[in-house]
Amino acid sequence: MKAIAITPGKGDARLIDINEPSISSDNEVKLKVVEVGICGTDREEAEGGRADAPAGESRLVIGHEMLGTVVETGSKVKSVRSGDYALFMVRRPCGKCEPCRVGRSDLCTTGDYTERGIKGRHGFQSEFVVDSEEYLIRVPGEIAETGVLTEPMSVVEKAIDEAVILQSARLPGKEKKDWLRGRRALVAGLGPIGLLAAFILKLQGAEIFGLDIVDESSPRPGILRELGGEYINGNKVNATDIDDKYGMMDFIVEATGVPKLEFQLIDALGINGIYVLTGIPSGERMVSIAGAALVSQLVLMNQLMLGSVNASKVHYEKAVEDLRASSEKYGQSLRKLITSRIHVQDFYRALTEHTPDEIKTVITW
Ligand code: BGC
Repeated sequence: MKAIAITPGKGDARLIDINEPSISSDNEVKLKVVEVGICGTDREEAEGGRADAPAGESRLVIGHEMLGTVVETGSKVKSVRSGDYALFMVRRPCGKCEPCRVGRSDLCTTGDYTERGIKGRHGFQSEFVVDSEEYLIRVPGEIAETGVLTEPMSVVEKAIDEAVILQSARLPGKEKKDWLRGRRALVAGLGPIGLLAAFILKLQGAEIFGLDIVDESSPRPGILRELGGEYINGNKVNATDIDDKYGMMDFIVEATGVPKLEFQLIDALGINGIYVLTGIPSGERMVSIAGAALVSQLVLMNQLMLGSVNASKVHYEKAVEDLRASSEKYGQSLRKLITSRIHVQDFYRALTEHTPDEIKTVITW
């Protein structure tokens, strides 16, 4: 079967032929891949950045944001049937640490976890994939059109959920489920992660602001506005002036991966506020920041700064639930997040072309 593979450290993305996987135990599921989203991680891998091939191999099949249909199930599989839409999660546990043992490999403490399409395990950019039911997420047919967004949505679900758990535990007043209602929330970076965050924040009743550097009339601020959010144009407003112009934020979700901005944004955070970062910057360039002022502010204003990566099964399930709720309430806006679907024959264009209005490019199989 065909698969898109890279050579870690070199890039060199190619369409190759590999053996079609088959079910080898009664708890496995075989999926026919329908489509696979492309994110910054895939592009970094294709440029020779962070990626590891499986032990003893020189190439890595990429792709971790998938949607497929079930074509075969092992005899013990109960949660899906042939024809159902489903996908596999990204991370596999190290098998040694406590978080991995209890199903939270997203919090693995040894660093020996693997990730399909990223670290030590082949990914999903291929015609078929097989894995254990344990890592399978069923996607209801009603949301098949945006089901490929489940993985990025799961990453945002985790980031927001962890931040809300911390806030509702340490601050008296609202319960977790209501914590965001009426709070002022800033999303920095209106790519797929930032915009998906805006959908979740909207569903939870927050007042949303979105920061980016694209033109006001372009599609990304447009989607934010359709959700009732206010656009802050970073070309016109400095990150350190956001609090003066728009007021201080109770909650910040960062999805830019721009280190200097990531630090400057602390300035926009309000008293007892929380700031959750999801962007993974590449490169080693140094940045200079107003360190003393920012750290004093964090201390004097009881603020929290939190990094968040990957997601556990509960977050994938919440992602499916919120994609369904978003498609019921804001379906037209949600569908706009997938800006192009490119057939696998044109995979190279999908990996390398990056137009300013692109939100999510998806490869169809
Ligand atoms: C993926 C995560 C993964 C992270 C780090 C992201 O692009 O969405 O699932 O854990 O990269 O490798």
